[in-house]
This record gives sequence, structure tokens and C-alpha cells, in this order.
Amino acid sequence: MGEKFEVVIIGAGPAGAAAAITTAKAGMSTLMVERGDFSGAKNMFGGLVFTKPTAEIIPEFWKTAPIERRIIEHKYWLLSEGSHVEISHRNQKFAKSFNSFTAYRARFDKWFASQAESAGTTLLTRTTATGVLWDSPGQISGISTDRGDVKADVVIACDGANSLIAKGAGLHEEWKPEDIAIGVKETYSLPKEKIEDRFNVRGDEGVAMMIYGGRQEEYAGFLYTNKDTISFGVGAIMSDLAKTKSYNMPMQLLEWMKQHPSIQPLLEGSSLREYTAHLIPEGGYYRLPPLYTNGMMVAGDAAMLVNALNWEGTNFAMFSGKYAGQTAVDAKKSGGNYSAANLSKYRTYLENSFVLKDLKKFRDVPHYIASHKYFLTLYPELLNDLMYKFFDVDGRPKQEHLAEMKKEIYTRRGRVGVVRDGIGIYRKVLS
Ligand SMILES: Cc1cc2nc3c(=O)[nH]c(=O)nc-3n(C[C@H](O)[C@H](O)[C@H](O)COP(=O)(O)OP(=O)(O)OC[C@H]3O[C@@H](n4cnc5c(N)ncnc54)[C@H](O)[C@@H]3O)c2cc1C
Repeated sequence: MGEKFEVVIIGAGPAGAAAAITTAKAGMSTLMVERGDFSGAKNMFGGLVFTKPTAEIIPEFWKTAPIERRIIEHKYWLLSEGSHVEISHRNQKFAKSFNSFTAYRARFDKWFASQAESAGTTLLTRTTATGVLWDSPGQISGISTDRGDVKADVVIACDGANSLIAKGAGLHEEWKPEDIAIGVKETYSLPKEKIEDRFNVRGDEGVAMMIYGGRQEEYAGFLYTNKDTISFGVGAIMSDLAKTKSYNMPMQLLEWMKQHPSIQPLLEGSSLREYTAHLIPEGGYYRLPPLYTNGMMVAGDAAMLVNALNWEGTNFAMFSGKYAGQTAVDAKKSGGNYSAANLSKYRTYLENSFVLKDLKKFRDVPHYIASHKYFLTLYPELLNDLMYKFFDVDGRPKQEHLAEMKKEIYTRRGRVGVVRDGIGIYRKVLS
């Protein structure tokens, strides 16, 4: 290739496309390389994207973006072996001004990258970045690809969870198994009318469900409605799989969830269309890598910018890409100095945004939950038992039921344990 661009972006996922839109719109010559046949060709996720962050990058994106359904109801299901407790919120405000939507990455990423192209980005698909070029020790000056080298004033690595490029640049140490989740997803075809009846939605309305509990293992499941398909999957932390040596556990969990008497009717009559698996970097605030060096920044999953608590990966990727792009634009304006000192503004942008504010605020929660597994195992079980006792009418006074419920809580977790858990969650999440 041998060409020179002001900005070279590796990876045309949400982070890369948002970075490219920002730099190209500001008039910087921008190249985005993508290893897939097209943007999104090999990408997968659960399926939920938040509206407002997306609209900040492409205003009124819903007029052209390939959206599946607009979510009007969010549900949490806490399972036990043969029951579930549901916490849900359905709101007509979500119908009028939708808060989130479902999408397929193959279509959404393709559309998003086309917005970057319209803004002036050169997109080169079927091109794999193989490393960075060094001008002098410590100064990155471009990338090498399987089609030749490309020089650049600044490189933005948006190459996802495995980021070999960031590793090669010394910005990304090998992640630990406790920082990485493996997610598996199955897509089921189901006629549109059946989805509408089953989930009580109309037109392009949809439902998002998070699923926890009912097992000894810690996991998080999801079920999202699309136009005529359902996205159904589960994520589990690698170190947990290693401990139990059950590396096929995500698949076993998925099978177990599918057979669960509450879930099985939701998938009944559907046919499996696709199976995919991918890594999710969930280390959070404490495990963030250095985000920049001389001549390079890292964004999205490659920089571990995922809020696992709220399943926010895509909008963190978009926003970090946007801020990396904005930092490049600022560096050009201030005389074309792409040194680490100048690119440090990228971290400042992130710190002033919801991305690092949220990651920082909830920095202790993932490890707290991981070391107090009963939040996702015992408590869902307990809650189901309590609800059963609450609704069960057996001729005895309610006072007796309440006394039994109290006894059950204290026997299974202990009075002190329950109080400690309450204080712990309050301190980590609410204070
Ligand atoms: C099972 C699962 C469920 C999820 N559910 C959700 C959800 O519901 N909502 C949500 O917001 N997030 C979800 N996420 C997380 C979300 O998918 C990621 O956080 C998001 O995709 C990160 O975007 P990115 O652009 O940083 O990386 P990616 O989307 O991984 O994009 C990286 C791009 O770089 C390309 N690439 C990689 N290496 C190279 C190379 N060397 N040269 C050229 N190109 C390269 C890839 O082909 C890809 O296009 C989920 C993840 C998983 C695994």
C-alpha cells in the first residue's frame, strides 16, 4: 500500500466506526481497516443498544439504521429450579421515545461503517492489521497489514477483545481469566405474530430480558426480541469455568435455561438459525490498560471499556471511539503533536463522560459479586421460595407464613449475613 493517512483505525466495529466518523467529519484523512469481508461480518453480541449514546454520534439514526425492535419493556428474571421471580418495567414513554433497541451486528455494523464512509473515511475490508510501525523507539507511525504497510500520524486500535495490535504496542497485557467472560448466543426464528403474542408487544415494540439464578454457577443470561427472531444467550466468567474445569459450561447453561419451565414456552416452536460465541472483557475500572502512547490510542473492547453490570459494551465502544477521534482532531489543531502527553486528553475526555464515571463508580461491584456468589445463586432461590410462601394460600394465617419466611432467610444466610449483604450492596452500588 505504502500510503500515508492522518488517522488509521484498526477494526470497523462500533468503536472504530465512531472514531472514523469523528475524524473524517473534522476533515482528517482517515483509513479504517477491517479483516472481515464487510464490517460486522464476523461480529456478534447479545443485541441491545442504547438510543441516546447512538444518537449523539448519528443524530436521528433510527431513520436509516437497521433496527430490529424498539424496547418498551425491560425484565429481570431470577430463576430457581422450577420457578422465576420477575422484576420488570414497561413504559409508554419507551414507546414514544425509545431508550434502547435490538439489532444484528452484521447489519448494524455495516450500516454504521457506511456512515463513516459517507463522512469521508476510506474503508478497506478483508485487510488484517498485523502490527504497528515504529518511527523511532517509542513512537508509533502506522501499521503493517497483510496487504502492506500504511503510515499514519496517529493509530486508533479498535480491534476488539483480543486486540493483538494493542498487545504488540505494549498497551495491553495478557488478560486474566477473572477479567474475561465467554458469551454464547443462539438465534431462533419465530414468526413475527408469535413474537408479538408471546411477549405482548405490537409493531416494532420489543422486550429485553436478563436472566440469573437457579444454578450453583454464577452466570448472566439474556433474551431479546427481534423482528422475527429471538436472541438467547449466556455469559460466564472464564476463571469460574477454569475452577470447575467445565469449559463447555456456557453451552450446558444454555441447554439448562432452554429446558427451564418458565423459558421453554418462550422458545417453543422456534427453530435454531445461528450459534455464535465471543469473549467479553469485564475486568472493569481497575483493569483498564494504558489507553494511549506516542502515536496511538486504544478504544472499545480492546481497552476493556465494558460495563458488565448494565450490559453496555456497544455504547462504551462508540463513545470511547468518538473521544479517541476527537483527541486526534484536537492534536492536529494544536500543531500536529501526537505525543503521549498530547493524547492524554483522551483519558480526560473519558473521565468526564459516563464511560469512566460509571466504570469508576461501580469499580468494586464485579469483584464483590464474584466473591459473594450467593447474590446470583442463593438469593434468587430464596426469593422464589419466599414468593411461593407469600402467594400460597393453605388455610393458615399469614402471620405464620411471615414467621416461616423470616426463619428461612435467617437459616439459609444467617441474620448477620443478610445485614452484611445489604450494607455491602448499599456501599458498592448505591452510596
Ligand atoms: C455474548 C455477548 C453479548 C453481548 N451483548 C451485548 C449487548 O446486548 N449490548 C451491548 O452493548 N454490548 C454487548 N456485548 C458487548 C459488545 O459486543 C462489545 O462491547 C462491542 O462490540 C465492542 O465494540 P468494539 O468496536 O470495541 O469491538 P468489536 O465489536 O469486537 O469490533 C472489532 C472489529 O475489529 C475487527 N478486527 C479485529 N482484529 C483486527 C485486525 N487485526 N485487523 C483488522 N480488523 C480487525 C473485527 O473484525 C471487528 O469488526 C456483548 C458481547 C458478547 C460477546
